Amino acid sequence: MRARPDSIRHSVFWNEAEQAQSPRFDLLEREFEPTLYRGFPVQVLSVVGYPDGFYQIKSLFGGNNPKGRSPIVFCIANVYARPDSGAGLGGQWRLYNALPINRARFWNSQQLGHVTFYYPPYHIFNKQKARQLNGFIDGLCKQFTVPTKPVDYYMADTPDELRQLRGIDYEATGSGLLKPTGRAIDNQVFCSGLDEFYPHELVHVYLDSSYPNQHPWVSEGVATYLGGSRGQSLDWHLARVATHLRAHPDIDLTNLLSLVSLDEFTDYRYALGGLLARAVFAKGGTSLLKQFMQSGRSDKAYYAALEQFLGLKRAELNERLREMLAGY
Ligand SMILES: [Zn+2]
Repeated sequence: MRARPDSIRHSVFWNEAEQAQSPRFDLLEREFEPTLYRGFPVQVLSVVGYPDGFYQIKSLFGGNNPKGRSPIVFCIANVYARPDSGAGLGGQWRLYNALPINRARFWNSQQLGHVTFYYPPYHIFNKQKARQLNGFIDGLCKQFTVPTKPVDYYMADTPDELRQLRGIDYEATGSGLLKPTGRAIDNQVFCSGLDEFYPHELVHVYLDSSYPNQHPWVSEGVATYLGGSRGQSLDWHLARVATHLRAHPDIDLTNLLSLVSLDEFTDYRYALGGLLARAVFAKGGTSLLKQFMQSGRSDKAYYAALEQFLGLKRAELNERLREMLAGY
């Protein structure tokens, strides 16, 4: 079954309903940057028929390790297939995303306001936090004059549960402690280790498409300023960054954008990006923040925007940012 999944063109192998919803209808394709379909050999491991008529096709993406060690397993993923039924449809087999099928089989859901929440059966739905999230969305859309729209919000204790929901049995990931994480893809939010109120990803859902010309430090900075990061507030992250920078006077903030992360909980992009987004808002309110959010995607454009909007010259960033963190 070659569904040309690397292509966003219409596919005769994929079901029509999902293709009508989005040109990037194959959700597995969106899972990986830049794409799952980057030329790994694919091996079908099993095809299992379920009582509801769907067949689960399990495939391994990976290949032989050129160094002669054990094989590389990039990912083991599932899609479903079922023949069309109904008059004139001729029993043609079509492919289906795993997510809506697994969701209906195994997860619970609750719709409140703009958000449909999906969660595993062990989770006790917290209506108060769900209301709080809707309040955040209303406030955000009003502040930035963008329309509200429905969102699917998936939450589980661990990233593995979210992967399985999306049809991924295994994915090569790094090792380390489990930590709260969120991700937004179009109008879908996936959160692990968090609850009904994780506003950071909603900032991405509602604002990013209106501001395509912003640097990653701006989009993550604004999302962290307005919605925190990893379930913690901007101030929580800034206190950690301030302590770290005081202990490391050698860290040179004139090369701000080359700094990645403090540790697995705090990222400079989110924390210092949030500090700078908040400073722009403090100076000129939402209208200046909106201009900052259109100031360009390149690193050069970001440094220029810091000077234009905050009077921060790049050569002075090390001193000035450390001053801005002095209260933490
Ligand atoms: Zn983010």
